[in-house]
Amino acid sequence: MPELPEVETTLRGIEPALTGRTINAVMVRNASLRWPVPDQVDLARGRRVIRCWRRAKYLLIELDSGEPAVTSAQGGLLIHLGMSGSLRICETGDAPRKHDHVDIVLDNGKCIRFNDPRRFGVFTWWEPPAQDHKLLRDLGPEPLSGAFSGNHLWQRSRGRKGAVKNFIMDGKIVVGVGNIYAAEALFMAGIHPMRAAGRVSAVRYEALAAAIRDVLSRAIALGGTTLRDFSNSDGNPGYFAQELLVYEREGLPCFQCQAPVRRKVIGQRSSYYCPRCQR
Ligand SMILES: [Zn+2]
Repeated sequence: MPELPEVETTLRGIEPALTGRTINAVMVRNASLRWPVPDQVDLARGRRVIRCWRRAKYLLIELDSGEPAVTSAQGGLLIHLGMSGSLRICETGDAPRKHDHVDIVLDNGKCIRFNDPRRFGVFTWWEPPAQDHKLLRDLGPEPLSGAFSGNHLWQRSRGRKGAVKNFIMDGKIVVGVGNIYAAEALFMAGIHPMRAAGRVSAVRYEALAAAIRDVLSRAIALGGTTLRDFSNSDGNPGYFAQELLVYEREGLPCFQCQAPVRRKVIGQRSSYYCPRCQR
């Protein structure tokens, strides 16, 4: 599943191809994604891309009004890669592959193609202000922004009895901390994934927030190394290329203390941790 670093890498891959270009058409081959692709996406026709950005795992393609007199942003396309989605840059005339559901056709003969075998992805329309969109309005802060801190985690966790791992994976608390990154960050901070969120101290939340930023930044940096191949690859920019400390290392020795890494199912997801280093 594309996690935040892969989505950020996707953004950096498609952004230069989109910004400043005019959209000639949005061609929908198969509208049945997670929700039906709405007819509104046709509003993109004839409009110029002002900028592309990311909020959590959503990609936003911001468009002008299509009229020279109106220069403000007028909404645009909103894309989520779901479980198996990807975007790639190709020539408009290239024959579509299986699961190529939507094309954003540009005015220079290129197109951005949305492929999604499992069809849990989202391809829809947003209107300003973006932060009020129903998919975006309840999201917590970006982990790499100034709004995210150990103090934020500590304050929001008071009185919570649920596992700290589920707490940091809750998008209302902080966005983009997927299963792999939660396991890695909790190991780096020395916090047991099953510990009650309300029983982690402010000092340890500072360490956890720093670990979350570190693990995501490193994953983004690694994703960036595959960018030059973006337009001729299958659209999968180096998923899971990161060197992992505990994730999927059940039974292997902990890099810090040599104790075997354990796996436990928490909230229906496999959690990996060191029983000696994490308390
Ligand atoms: Zn250990």
